[in-house]
Amino acid sequence: MAQRNTWQRERVRDALADARGFVSAQSLHAALRDENTGIGLATVYRALAGLAAAGQADSLQSPEGEALYRACAMSGHHHHLICRSCGLAVEIEATAVEKWAQDTAAQHGFRDAEHVVDIFGLCESCAAQKA
Ligand SMILES: [Zn+2]
Ligand SMILES: [Zn+2]
Ligand SMILES: [Zn+2]
Repeated sequence: MAQRNTWQRERVRDALADARGFVSAQSLHAALRDENTGIGLATVYRALAGLAAAGQADSLQSPEGEALYRACAMSGHHHHLICRSCGLAVEIEATAVEKWAQDTAAQHGFRDAEHVVDIFGLCESCAAQKA
């Protein structure tokens, strides 16, 4: 059953790798449709969720609450700077945030603390275009 959709998942992963930054399932589906792959939107959603669960893609929520995905260059815990205009993403480490999160959790008696910190803004070239 899982085997049957393997090529579709591979195809979605390739499309994700080609994308410049974080993309929604809908925009990825539109790109695949332009290539006449015949992959449906539901399959794209499933493939992206599967890739994220397997640690092969990053997922996050846009400020508008939409799920966004990206094939990630970094493995392990990290953070992102994301352009809200063009979707460009930069992988960043945030040592100060790691320490702050750990200390804050400990101060309040929390264990196994996790956090999600992504910074949304305008990248240099989008900011230049708007100026
Ligand atoms: Zn990432
Ligand atoms: Zn930009
Ligand atoms: Zn962190």
